[in-house]
Amino acid sequence: MNSFSCPHLNIKDNFCLRLKTDCVPGRKGCVLHNRFEFAIPAEERIKELEKRKRQKK
Ligand code: SF4
Repeated sequence: MNSFSCPHLNIKDNFCLRLKTDCVPGRKGCVLHNRFEFAIPAEERIKELEKRKRQKK
């Protein structure tokens, strides 16, 4: 269960308005960066997201 609601998130596009890129909680520049420990590190989730985006093209 997750009760965190980020004011920088454009929910429709899963886009971070603060960083002007995909929302990946905990990524560098994110309000959660270095504040929480994630089961899967942000860097790994970014790589996976980029991979999925490339496969879609
Ligand atoms: S990356 Fe972080 S700051 Fe940006 S929308 Fe997602 S949770 Fe919010």
